[in-house]
Amino acid sequence: MILESKEIKKKVEGFLDLVKERNSLEPEFLQAVEEVAETVIPYIVQNDIYHGKNILLRMVEPERAITFRVNWVDDSGEIQVNRGYRIQMNSAIGPYKGGLRFHPSVNMSILKFLAFEQVFKNSLTTLPMGGGKGGSDFDPKGKSDNEIMRFCHAFMSELFRHIGPNTDVPAGDIGVGGREIGFLFGMYKKLKNEFTGVLTGKGVTWGGSLIRPEATGYGTVYFAQKMLQTKGDEINGKTVTISGAGNVAQYAAEKIIQLGGKVITLSDSSGYIFDSDGICSDKLAFVMDLKNNKRGRISSYVKTYPNAQYFANKTPWEQPCDIALPCATQNELQLSDANRLLDNGCICVSEGANMPSTNEAIFAFQKAKILFAPGKASNAGGVATSGLEMTQNSLRYNWTRDEVDEKLKEIMGNIHDKCIAFGKDEKSGYIDYVKGANIAGFVKVADAMLAQGIV
Ligand code: NDP
Repeated sequence: MILESKEIKKKVEGFLDLVKERNSLEPEFLQAVEEVAETVIPYIVQNDIYHGKNILLRMVEPERAITFRVNWVDDSGEIQVNRGYRIQMNSAIGPYKGGLRFHPSVNMSILKFLAFEQVFKNSLTTLPMGGGKGGSDFDPKGKSDNEIMRFCHAFMSELFRHIGPNTDVPAGDIGVGGREIGFLFGMYKKLKNEFTGVLTGKGVTWGGSLIRPEATGYGTVYFAQKMLQTKGDEINGKTVTISGAGNVAQYAAEKIIQLGGKVITLSDSSGYIFDSDGICSDKLAFVMDLKNNKRGRISSYVKTYPNAQYFANKTPWEQPCDIALPCATQNELQLSDANRLLDNGCICVSEGANMPSTNEAIFAFQKAKILFAPGKASNAGGVATSGLEMTQNSLRYNWTRDEVDEKLKEIMGNIHDKCIAFGKDEKSGYIDYVKGANIAGFVKVADAMLAQGIV
C-alpha cells in the first residue's frame, strides 16, 4: 500500500520498528502485523477516539501464550517428544476461537501470525468470538491411526486445562481434520467429565454442524462470487486454479464446479496436477478419497487420469486462469507468481488459506486493480460456521444443511459489505479489500477494548 503522508509513514515505521524489536525472530508474525499496520494506523490517526490508547500495540501482544511438552509412544515403542502451543491472542469480543495446526513447521511465529489474523477475521464474522490459534510441530504424515490417536490424547492431556466452551474453543487447521478433532474431544470429555461444545468441527452425530467441513472452501468461493458481482461478472464459465488438496481446496473446488466454473489444478507440498479437461465432480470424488481416506499424494491423480499432467516442486500459478484460489499455506504465492497470474489475464484472487500471498504479491494485485480478497475476509466462512456450531451446541439443537448454508452465504455477504464500507475509494470506485477487512475487523475489537478499560 502507498502511504499518503510522511507523518503517517513515520508513525507506521515507528510502530513496526517497536514490534520488530520485540519479535525479531518471528518473520511471519511481523509480515501479518505489517499488512495490518499499514491500513489501520492511518485510520487511527484520522479517528480521535483511538488516539493515544496504544490499541494496536496491545493487539499485537498475545493475552497469553502457552507452550507445553507432548510425550507420546510411537508404534515401535519409542518415546516421542513434541511441542504443543496455544496462543490466546484477544478475548475482547468473545472466547478465544481459532484452529489447531499439526505440521513440522509450527512455531511461535507461525501461530502468532495466525492468531493475530484470527482476531480480525472473527471480528468480521459479526459473531462473538475472540481470536486464538494453537497446534504442534507434530507431523501427521505417515503416522498410523493409533499413533495419531495417542498423540492427540497426549496433546489434550495438557491443553484441556487452558480451554473451555466459555474460555477458548479450538477447531481444525492444517493436519487437524475430523479424525483428530474426534480424538481430541474424546480426551477432553474424559478428563473434564463434561460433554460440551469445547471444540468445533465435531462429527455431526456428536455435536458437529452440517456444512462445517465445507464452510471455508464454500465461503472462499461465495466471496469471489460477491467480488465478481461488483463488476457484473460471475463464476460460470471461468477457469480456476486452486492450490492445496486438503479440506479448504476440496470444497472450494466443489463449489466452483457447482457454480459452472472449470477447476484445472490442485496441489500438495510435493507439486501440482494440471487437468486441461477440468476436474469434474467424479474426479474430485477421487481426490477426496485419495486425500481423506487413503492419505495419498496428489501425484497419483495422473495415474488414474492420464490426460492430466503432474509438475513436481511447482505451484499452480504458472497456468493461465481467470480466478486463482490459494488454499494451501502461507507465502505460497510470491511476487513472481502474482506477475505471472496478471500477465496471463487473472482477474480475481480469493484467498482460502491464511496469508498465502506475500505482501509484495498483494501489492502487485492491488496495483493492477484486480479483485483481491485477503484470507481474513474470504476464508472467514470456516470460523463463522464454527460459531454457528457453538450456537447449536448451546441451544442443543441442529440446523439443517440448507439453513447453515444460507447463514454462511449471508455472513460472507456481510463481510463483503463491510470491506466495501471501509475499503471503497469513492472517487475511483476501487475496493481495497485488505484495507476494508483490516479496518472493519479492528473497529469492533478496539471499541470493545476501549469499553473494557486497560485490562
Ligand atoms: P489440510 O491439512 O486439510 O490441507 C492442507 C493442504 O495444503 C494439503 O494439500 C497440503 O499438502 C498443502 N500444504 C501444506 N503445507 C504446504 C506447503 N508448505 N507447501 C505447499 N502445500 C502445502 O489443511 P486445510 O485445508 O484445513 O488448510 C489449508 C489452509 O487454509 C491453511 O492456510 C489454513 O490455515 C487455512 N484455513 C483453514 C480453515 C479450515 O476450516 N480448515 C479455516 C480458515 C483457513 P501436503 O499434504 O503435502 O502437506
